[in-house]
Amino acid sequence: MIATHNPGKLWEMRGLLEPYGVDAVAAGELGLKEPDETGASFQENARIKAEAAARAAGLPAFADDSGLAVDALGGAPGIHSARWAGPNRDFRAAMEKLNHELWERGAVTPQARAAHFISALCVAWPDGHVEEFEGRVDGTLVWPPRGDKGFGYDPMFLPAGRELTFGEMMSVEKHGLPPRGLGLSHRARAFLKLAEACLAGD
Ligand code: IMP
Repeated sequence: MIATHNPGKLWEMRGLLEPYGVDAVAAGELGLKEPDETGASFQENARIKAEAAARAAGLPAFADDSGLAVDALGGAPGIHSARWAGPNRDFRAAMEKLNHELWERGAVTPQARAAHFISALCVAWPDGHVEEFEGRVDGTLVWPPRGDKGFGYDPMFLPAGRELTFGEMMSVEKHGLPPRGLGLSHRARAFLKLAEACLAGD
């Protein structure tokens, strides 16, 4: 089971599992309630979501907790990345707020606008044990946002050494796994570790 209620993440996580022949149902599709994310880190929040889903459904559950950390803002929005967009999940407003905070600090060069996405993944098994993995992608924040693909802060995030923001990239480029994709995104990088540990078959 994929323990997320975020449609953007669900779509990416289903795509990651598909090549391994893993059929996944989403927590939202089973009508499970979203647990409160009360953890102090990405890893703790991923574990809260995975364990709640595994307990409720009796299935192995796979959860991601992720977000954007901006160096000049001391790592904000971090675990509050979704909350910065408010109850209406308005990421245009969240990106404007981010840009405003950077501008107030005089952060105008790509170096001063350095940021990274983090993805913490947790697989919780019905017998109670968990496996945890983390991935990261570094880049810089551009303004104005570019592209209408992806979700969240994607249009503002330019990965290091690339010319297209995550919002401009085809999904296979952002999170596709080798050999089709580059395994570029934080989630793809964390997932490659998870796949090696939990899904590698013969
Ligand atoms: P949560 O992990 O569901 O608490 O929320 C993470 C939030 O971080 C998302 O709602 C997005 O705002 C942001 N985020 C995480 N991963 C990505 C990504 O791949 N692209 C853009 N935004 C992301």
